[in-house]
Amino acid sequence: MLFLHPTMSTNSANIKNTRKLYVESYGCAMNFADSEIIASIMNEHGFVNTTDELDADVIFLNTCAIRDNAETRIRERLKHLRMNKKHNNDLIIGVLGCMAERLKDKLLEEEKLVDVVAGPDSYRDLPKLVAEVDEGGRAINVLLSREETYGDLNPVRLNSNGVTAFVSIMRGCDNMCSFCVVPYTRGRERSRDPHSIVDEVKTLQLNGYKEITLLGQNVNSYLYFGGGQKKEFKKLTPEEQAQAVDFADLLEMVALAVPNMRIRYSTSHPRDINEKVVITMAKYKNICNYIHLPAQSGNSRILDIMSRNYTREWYLDKIKMIRNIIPDCGISCDIIAGFCSETEEEHQDTLSLITEARFDFSYMYKYSERPGTPAAKKLADDVPEEVKSRRLTEIIETQNAMNLTKNNERIGKIVEVLIEGSSKKSDTDWMGRSDENIVVVFPKGNENKGDMVKVLVERATVTTLIGKVVNQ
Ligand code: SAM
Ligand code: SF4
Repeated sequence: MLFLHPTMSTNSANIKNTRKLYVESYGCAMNFADSEIIASIMNEHGFVNTTDELDADVIFLNTCAIRDNAETRIRERLKHLRMNKKHNNDLIIGVLGCMAERLKDKLLEEEKLVDVVAGPDSYRDLPKLVAEVDEGGRAINVLLSREETYGDLNPVRLNSNGVTAFVSIMRGCDNMCSFCVVPYTRGRERSRDPHSIVDEVKTLQLNGYKEITLLGQNVNSYLYFGGGQKKEFKKLTPEEQAQAVDFADLLEMVALAVPNMRIRYSTSHPRDINEKVVITMAKYKNICNYIHLPAQSGNSRILDIMSRNYTREWYLDKIKMIRNIIPDCGISCDIIAGFCSETEEEHQDTLSLITEARFDFSYMYKYSERPGTPAAKKLADDVPEEVKSRRLTEIIETQNAMNLTKNNERIGKIVEVLIEGSSKKSDTDWMGRSDENIVVVFPKGNENKGDMVKVLVERATVTTLIGKVVNQ
């Protein structure tokens, strides 16, 4: 969940509007980055941010539809927020983002839980939609766009630590993994103009930020050839195609533009990550040695019915390629437990993938059937809930053991850490991340937030490296 900081409204001077906006974000980093775009658009129209929902005139929930429990949480939250209307008759409640398309009729008409529904490509319309509600209606725009990237907007940095920031580089996804709702909620793939990306990164540097993460559902598929949907690329002439900027080109442009900033990116689809990208990472010291490379399963039959377009062996070869070029590269994974028809043996393949690939950490989920996806239409969600839960527990235990093994191997080594702020557990410790994206905690000295320091690792837990600053 994310709250806007009231002091972050900067553009409201020229439009008279004293109404207050409160935004909550759910789900993936893309959604958090989108909330910064939403705030920017609303601030341009004079809305002022608030962190107090009871003080708000407009409440937006920026929603996630990736799993059923994400939707359930938002429904509960909406029911609760409706009570706020008792204190403020004019309160406007909006559901934005991935839940918008699927649940628009239910939320607006049947359950009358919300006044505004807006999909991920219609945020520029939000001030107009709010005005329509002011006129007494309910307002909706869930149209998906061929071109929208919000590339010209300057996102308002929300809930920021002032050190790290997200920069959205593309929208939508063309991959159609059978379990996934994203292509339906976020539409076809479009890439943002690389010059607007570089400009945003340079602005962040001027504002004191030290690290950026280039964001997209499938960043390695980034391809800019003047705008529009990626599927149009094949219609270009060979000469026009040769002018296009791919992800490795973009990484290089950003690395050269801000040599003193750390650069990360997420997420990579194993099909699209290639040697050119990894060689570019190795070439520039400011590009972090870390790749989030979701496998989803360790079994080739399951990968096939997930429409991931690779096998276990092919995935492991990608890991080999990465580690041949960057031996210490941090690699993390997403894993789904109990996908349709998964057998015990196939589940064991996922457990062995964790040990073979030696993931530094993973995000792990039970399969959740999403209406409208190819899996929901063609495959039975037939692994019983208790079996899914048990398999997920085994996956988490196996990954935790691997985390510990890998973190223990780092004891005695010196890691470079960007200080992000105080440790959650103790105000006398700093918290930061290593190049490989591992959390590092160490006692405070004369350093400041945003400093890059060298830390000798002395101890390790499943999630954290603990050490002390060394002067080198
Ligand atoms: N684009 C990224 C990729 O392909 O790896 C991931 C995007 S998705 C927002 C993040 C993760 O959610 C996926 O990698 C997958 O593990 C998980 N996920 C997506 N759909 C799911 C579903 N129906 N049930 C459970 N987990 C799901
Ligand atoms: Fe979903 Fe697959 Fe696209 Fe990732 S690559 S967003 S899992 S369809």
